[in-house]
Amino acid sequence: MEVFDYKGICLKRDKRAIYLDPSSGRPDGAVSHAHSDHLKPKTHMTEPTKEVMIARTGSKEATTHKFHEKFKINDFELEFVSAGHVVGSAMIDCEGVLYTGDYNPYGTVTAGIAKPQDCDTLIVESTYGKPDQVLPDRNEVLSDLQAWIMATSAKEGAIIGAYSLGKAQEVIATANLGGVTPVVSDVVASVSDIYKRNGVKLEYNTYSELTENEQKTAELLVTSTTAANGKKQDEAVQNMRKKGAKTARVSGWCAFSEWALRSVDAGFPISDHSDFSGTMKFVEECNPKQVYTVHGSTKELAKQIQKQLGIDAQPLPKYGQTSIEKYN
Ligand SMILES: [Zn+2]
Repeated sequence: MEVFDYKGICLKRDKRAIYLDPSSGRPDGAVSHAHSDHLKPKTHMTEPTKEVMIARTGSKEATTHKFHEKFKINDFELEFVSAGHVVGSAMIDCEGVLYTGDYNPYGTVTAGIAKPQDCDTLIVESTYGKPDQVLPDRNEVLSDLQAWIMATSAKEGAIIGAYSLGKAQEVIATANLGGVTPVVSDVVASVSDIYKRNGVKLEYNTYSELTENEQKTAELLVTSTTAANGKKQDEAVQNMRKKGAKTARVSGWCAFSEWALRSVDAGFPISDHSDFSGTMKFVEECNPKQVYTVHGSTKELAKQIQKQLGIDAQPLPKYGQTSIEKYN
């Protein structure tokens, strides 16, 4: 089987091909999860990924499969296995080739964990692919976040900005563990409802459904990063700000980039991606013969895998357009 970058991640054997996280919707494509840079309609996906797609785009066109259910596209046998990134996120296993998509080998509170598995060829994401991109212990940062939520929400109030798919639900679960039920924006609520339908326990109230008095007395608001910190602050953020609420950002970039800490009172470096150490360990435990890196610091990560693990590694190569066209 050949693997290369063409209209997505293309797997080709003889005259047949399939596309993982394809660049456009197509029935011979499979998507890893519902973040917009990966999601395309008319492809194969998990049921929760389809639910997020419907909520966010209105499109219902997809063929769904359960985790660990084997299915075929163009005679290739595939299987979705948990990626531990966001609800429904999957690594895609195809006959000895494992594509991680966005994945988290440390595990999440609300979206499971990515476990290494034996493969011949590993296609691994390299968002944090540089050797210095090592995140602090996830559980310790979650404890810090919980302590901050409990202390701040009871006093001046707290606004937390986080990605509405994935991070916001980790924040809600963390608040719940500290005995706090947050108020959330409509966008965060629509995604969190999908988590609940898929068996994740989350307690929250939707701001727009509260009475005026309840809105005024809200102690913790979980909203999107843009609403919390951007110029377009909505009514919920403005109300909280008026009474002096503190603001926090929850993002892996809080550990590496100054911009992530700008205009917030606190930053918590929690990521739904792997960091450099997690990726090196994951690659080693999958024990592949060949590694291809995609997304982010592809060259740096490939170099380190080659150097530290002695495994053949390179950024996923592009394929000449003219050669592939005759196969499709
Ligand atoms: Zn993602």
